[in-house]
Amino acid sequence: MEQNPAFSLQRRAMVEQQLCRRGIRDERVLAAMLKVPRHEFVAPEQRAAAYDDRPLPIGESETISQPYMVASMTAAARILAGDKALEIGAGSGYQAAILAELGASVVTIERNPSLAQCARDRLRRLGYPNVHVVTGDGSEGYPPDAPYNAILVTAGSPRVPPPLLDQLAEGGRLVIPIGDLHQQILQLIFKRGGELARRDLDPCQFVPLVGKQAWPEKIRPN
Ligand code: SAH
Repeated sequence: MEQNPAFSLQRRAMVEQQLCRRGIRDERVLAAMLKVPRHEFVAPEQRAAAYDDRPLPIGESETISQPYMVASMTAAARILAGDKALEIGAGSGYQAAILAELGASVVTIERNPSLAQCARDRLRRLGYPNVHVVTGDGSEGYPPDAPYNAILVTAGSPRVPPPLLDQLAEGGRLVIPIGDLHQQILQLIFKRGGELARRDLDPCQFVPLVGKQAWPEKIRPN
C-alpha cells in the first residue's frame, strides 16, 4: 500500500504533533490514524499537503476534514470491533477507512455521485471490503442497515435530523456538527435506555449537510 517512506514519516509526525499533543489518547484511534494512507485520499496535486494540520480540497467544492477533527470524532464515537457504523458525507472515504480500521462494518453515504464513485473505487483499491459506499441523501440516514452502534455526520447541520436518532441502536453514539453555515459545535448524543443524552464537544467548521432533513439544496448550487 505504501510506496514512499516519506509519507509514513509525515504520518507519524501528524499523529504525534496534531493528535497526541492535543489530547487524543485512544490508542486504537491513534493506530488507525497511523495506518491509513491519507495521501491516497487527496488529489495527486495535494499529496505533499496530505498530512498538514488542515482540511484539504477533494474536488466538487468539498473537503477532507482536518486530521484532528477525524480523530476526535472517531474517539468520541467509541467504535468497537464489530460495531455497525454509519457515516454521512463520505467525501474522499478517509473517515470511513478509519472506522473500518477499528473493526466496524461501515455504511457511508455521499450525495454527490461523482465523489461517491471515487470513494468507492479508492476504498476497493486500498482494500476496505467492509465499507459500503451508498449514493444518496444521508440526512435521512440509511434504513436498510439500521440500527447503528455509531453514526458520524461529517457535514454541518442546522439541527439533528430525526431519522438519525431513530436509526441509533440502544447504547449507540451519534456525533454531529450542529450550527449555522459558518460555525458549528460538535455534539455527541448517546441513546441509553431509550433516552437521549447530549454533550457539546469542540467548535468546528464543516461544509453544509444538504438534504431533506438539513440545509435546503439552494444553499449550495451543485
Ligand atoms: N468524511 C469525508 C469528508 C466530508 S466533506 C472524508 O473523510 O473525506 C462532507 C461531504 O458531505 C461532502 O462530500 C458532501 O457532498 C457530503 N454531503 C453533504 N450533504 C450530504 C447529504 N445529505 N448526504 C450525504 N452526503 C452529503
